[in-house]
Order: sequence, then C-alpha cells, then structure tokens
Amino acid sequence: MGSGRIDLSDQDILHWVAAEFGVKPPYHPPQVRRVTRQKLSKLYLQNTRNMPRAIAGKSVVDSILGLFIAETNVIYVRAHMSDCRQAAIVAHEVAHFFQVMTLGKLDKWEGLSNEVRAFRELEAREIEIRFQKVFCNKSVAKQRQGAAPSAGDAGAGVTFTLIKR
Ligand SMILES: [Zn+2]
Repeated sequence: MGSGRIDLSDQDILHWVAAEFGVKPPYHPPQVRRVTRQKLSKLYLQNTRNMPRAIAGKSVVDSILGLFIAETNVIYVRAHMSDCRQAAIVAHEVAHFFQVMTLGKLDKWEGLSNEVRAFRELEAREIEIRFQKVFCNKSVAKQRQGAAPSAGDAGAGVTFTLIKR
C-alpha cells in the first residue's frame, strides 16, 4: 500500500467500525458525502449554534475535517485529503454514528455534559487512530500522530459531530 492510498469503500469502513463497536446489522448506514472545505465550514456554521467557533485561538470552522449530522444521517468529509486520511475521518464520524445509535437517549449533543462529549470524542478519535494503524502506511500514520495541529494541514485538525433530533 503506497503512502496515503487506501483501497476500502465507505461500506468496508462502516463494517470495520461496526465490528470495533461489536454492533451487528441491521442498522441504517449513514450516507457519506465528500465536500469542499468551504462547504464543510458552511455546514458547521449552519448546523451548530452553541458549538465553539474557535479553540485556543484556532478557528474550528476552518479546520473542521468531518461532521456527522444525526438528524439526516449524513456524514460530511472534507475532500482533497489523502485517501487514507479521508478514510480515517470517515471511520471517526462512523464511530459517532454508532454512538448515537447505541446511546440514542443521550442524543442532543448540545445538551450533553462536557464529560459525555469528551468521552465520545475520545472514543471516535481512538477509532480513527486505530484505523490509521491498521490500514494506512505505518510511517504516514506515525508522522500524523506526532504532527502538531495546524489549520490547513490535512494531517491534523478538528472533527465535530452534531447530534440533534
Ligand atoms: Zn468527533
């Protein structure tokens, strides 16, 4: 497997994450859409009210890489990243899909405690990192994990989930 290349469909990714969560079908798989950075920023602004616009001086709106909107069951991923990075972000957002599915009572992200939000984010991030370790070129995955986050760097960034019903 070459650097950043990956040969998995979105459905393959869904199945892999489902197995990680120990979830068995049937479930209603989310749609995955690749969108531009501008479109993703716009979707984030449109669909979040109380979510942060910046963290530690860094714009969340500009650095967002993925978004899961539970209401419509659609995952949005920023296009123009390496296949591998993009797939890892899909895995991250699919993790949020299964969190909502299995913990449905706690659905309103904006109403969740910081503790629950942090737990969900951590869990999704772990899935993302595990995915990279399993499927991506090892040196690439290693390099990305150690990379300092910076806006515009597709190797590091922020993902957010919007959970509302
Ligand atoms: Zn997330």
